[in-house]
Amino acid sequence: MRRAILASPNSQPLLPKLANIVGAKHVITDPDVMAPHLSEWRKLYTGKAQALVRPSSTAEVSAILRLAHETDTPVVPQSGNTGGVGGQIPDQSGRAILLSLARMDRVRDVQPLSNMMTVEAGVILQNVQAEAEKADRFFPMSLPSEGSCMIGGNLATNAGGTGVIAFGNTRDLVLGIEVVLPDGRIWNGLSGLRKDNAGYEMKHLFIGSEGTLGVITAATLKLFPRPRSRVTGFIGLASPEHALKLLARAQGGSGGTVTTFELLPRLGIDMALKNGAGVRDPLAGKHDWYVLLEVSSQDADGLQDKVEMMLTGAFEAEEAEDAVLASSLDQRMNLWKIREDLPFAQATEGASIKHDISVPIASVPAFMAEALAMLAEKFPGCRPCPFGHLGDGNLHFNVTQPVGADGQAFLALYDEMNAAVFDIVARYGGSIAAEHGVGQHKRKLLPRYKDPVALDLMLTLKKAIDPRGIMNPGKVL
Ligand SMILES: Cc1cc2nc3c(=O)[nH]c(=O)nc-3n(C[C@H](O)[C@H](O)[C@H](O)COP(=O)(O)OP(=O)(O)OC[C@H]3O[C@@H](n4cnc5c(N)ncnc54)[C@H](O)[C@@H]3O)c2cc1C
Repeated sequence: MRRAILASPNSQPLLPKLANIVGAKHVITDPDVMAPHLSEWRKLYTGKAQALVRPSSTAEVSAILRLAHETDTPVVPQSGNTGGVGGQIPDQSGRAILLSLARMDRVRDVQPLSNMMTVEAGVILQNVQAEAEKADRFFPMSLPSEGSCMIGGNLATNAGGTGVIAFGNTRDLVLGIEVVLPDGRIWNGLSGLRKDNAGYEMKHLFIGSEGTLGVITAATLKLFPRPRSRVTGFIGLASPEHALKLLARAQGGSGGTVTTFELLPRLGIDMALKNGAGVRDPLAGKHDWYVLLEVSSQDADGLQDKVEMMLTGAFEAEEAEDAVLASSLDQRMNLWKIREDLPFAQATEGASIKHDISVPIASVPAFMAEALAMLAEKFPGCRPCPFGHLGDGNLHFNVTQPVGADGQAFLALYDEMNAAVFDIVARYGGSIAAEHGVGQHKRKLLPRYKDPVALDLMLTLKKAIDPRGIMNPGKVL
């Protein structure tokens, strides 16, 4: 195993000071150890940093930011490094320090009677879910990256995922946060209050700010009663219009709460079957579109019958063509695997141009028809594979390169295709950054698509909170 090169007292003046705060072995400059933190999974962004710094407490984060503020040193917070827009990757200047929250992984407090828990920023999302379960409670945030993303990153990106349809985005799941401001001051906003109208709601400024306003060090999260039964199904249908009708039917009468409603095209199933390990075709025949449906209930019995009745109604109304309900945990895992493997299965097919967009839910079919027709005309041969959270109007409108084409040549079309798709999104009153945020990926697009007054307010807040511009420069704004 390689040993990290430790910061020596003779290296640049900042590093020994950082070593005094966190201990020398947590100021890492070894290029091999830093490398995985300086690039991201989509391989779109790489960066450089003076050091990877790994604090273990809020007090250490505070001392690091005070030092960064005094020395005008840029700070890039990084949690699980699963972000989709390069926000967690420093620029190429090498001036920044990369601040890893991974050592801040303590569960501070779980209070089942108040339905809340307080965790530090570096707790992995899956561990948050598991801690809630130990207390017979449920933490509903669920992302395919939940085994490695961390709650600090989830808050900083206001992550969405498959549970938003029932429980909202990350910001809806947070009672309070603790933040270290760019000058090192600590704001302890870890209130467990569910009602507090004493002035502006400051936590929402930091949630979704992608590390540009401060470092989130801990959060008090909402917990929910654990569902006592759950039914998972895969439904084949003819079009996104049919899927929307099925959504209304399921929400109106499936005997429980619709906690997942994910749309997938047949191409996505084919890609998952071809490139995902151990994925099985969910239905006997082929359908143009599919929905992964999950319904949850506080009743222990009877849910399956009610979902079956709802589906019978959907077949009679010709909203659905075929369906399977999981009858074992193994079957449920297979159904979920198709959805969860899709981003990776798509990556195996070559280069993709991605659009993480949202439009009003009822506009999804019309948006989709218009955008697909535009792609067919302007980018012949490309393979659109739009999938995602239909119940939130949020689609990963991803477009894979033509079969056998040159990946780099296809990626050269990125800006042109983005503009063509985003202009349609804008006409439907949608967002060009529905789930993954802005980061560096969409920073230049923001002035074109963000309301100018809102953008001006964002700039004003940034200047007020981070006057020296040290927090995650070059991201969002
Ligand atoms: C396979 C896969 C599937 C995904 N699916 C979804 C999905 O369904 N929905 C969704 O919303 N996202 C999804 N993502 C994106 C990603 O998982 C989320 O954005 C996640 O919330 C990022 O968490 P992280 O810990 O990895 O943060 P990082 O990637 O480390 O950081 C993300 C951003 O937050 C900032 N940041 C990180 N920690 C802090 C902190 N403590 N304080 C202040 N700023 C901070 C960083 O500077 C950066 O700007 C997916 C990613 C992958 C790889």
